[in-house]
Amino acid sequence: MILSEIRLHSPQSLAEAFKLLEELKEARIAAGGTDLFVDMKQGLIEARDIISLQKIEDLRGIGKEDKGIRIGAMVTAQEIISSSLINQHIPALADAARSMASCQIRSMATIGGNISSAVPSADLPPSLIAADATVELRCSESFREVTLTKLFAGPRETICQTGELLTFIFVPFPPPNTGISYQKFALREANALAVASVASRLTLKDGKIDRVAVVLGAVAPTPIEALKTSEFLSGKEPSQSLFEEASLMAKKEAKPISDIRGSIWYRKELISILTRRALTEALLQAQRKSRTKE
Ligand SMILES: Cc1cc2nc3c(=O)[nH]c(=O)nc-3n(C[C@H](O)[C@H](O)[C@H](O)COP(=O)(O)OP(=O)(O)OC[C@H]3O[C@@H](n4cnc5c(N)ncnc54)[C@H](O)[C@@H]3O)c2cc1C
Repeated sequence: MILSEIRLHSPQSLAEAFKLLEELKEARIAAGGTDLFVDMKQGLIEARDIISLQKIEDLRGIGKEDKGIRIGAMVTAQEIISSSLINQHIPALADAARSMASCQIRSMATIGGNISSAVPSADLPPSLIAADATVELRCSESFREVTLTKLFAGPRETICQTGELLTFIFVPFPPPNTGISYQKFALREANALAVASVASRLTLKDGKIDRVAVVLGAVAPTPIEALKTSEFLSGKEPSQSLFEEASLMAKKEAKPISDIRGSIWYRKELISILTRRALTEALLQAQRKSRTKE
């Protein structure tokens, strides 16, 4: 990569960005650059033109809406950690952001970049999927809203097309008596990608599990919902023995690969432990909320 051969474009508005995307079809989008520039340095991707989203104010900010929280694609991991709205309503997302990388990377890394990279071990998607989040994909003329599970097409691949930008993430307020937990295992405490991760959302009604979602990270080409595990848990009274059984089911639903960070066997074992922890933590949160009536 020869820096002098790269042209950096810094649009000040979404309209300007879409115009550039129209003109420079091969251009790469840069948010915080913590994935993109590493990939370029390693020669995994090439770019002559880079369109930076840094100056587009419309893509920043975390706002409260009637039914949930709207997060701009350029919101950084650090801003997620510091947001009182997110800590109040989706603390699992703040936990996931806190578990990412180092302070320096968290100050640059954006939620839009974390999702768009579509790296299977990325930290933010599992809790967003568990929280039923959707993203807005916008081009110059129209926009579409898709769930995160539909967004991911494979490892490092999304359905976002040339000319489109991921602009916002919308996370609905969790229903009453709901807990969401994110559990990650990495080989070090800092600057380490997940070897396996689990996000779990659990809603209690009349002492039973009403709605539940178990999302597995880093153990399939994309984050996946362990649907059989969720179905098994629904309608049952929560207990440690139930969670034990569920964690063995989640282990079966994981489809990991062996790589430098862990073998298939190791990742599956981790999934069972992390599922149990995530369900236990989500249950505690849900019970606490039902005691205090939110
Ligand atoms: C040392 C180090 C440690 C790391 N540790 C972790 C970790 O623990 N957990 C983790 O999850 N990640 C980790 N990462 C990866 C990275 O920091 C995150 O994935 C980060 O959130 C990426 O965001 P970004 O803004 O830097 O994206 P960028 O690098 O700017 O972009 C990433 C990709 O998304 C595309 N893109 C960005 N924004 C948009 C948009 N709005 N619309 C469409 N496409 C877009 C870009 O074109 C590019 O292909 C680490 C990286 C480094 C270098």
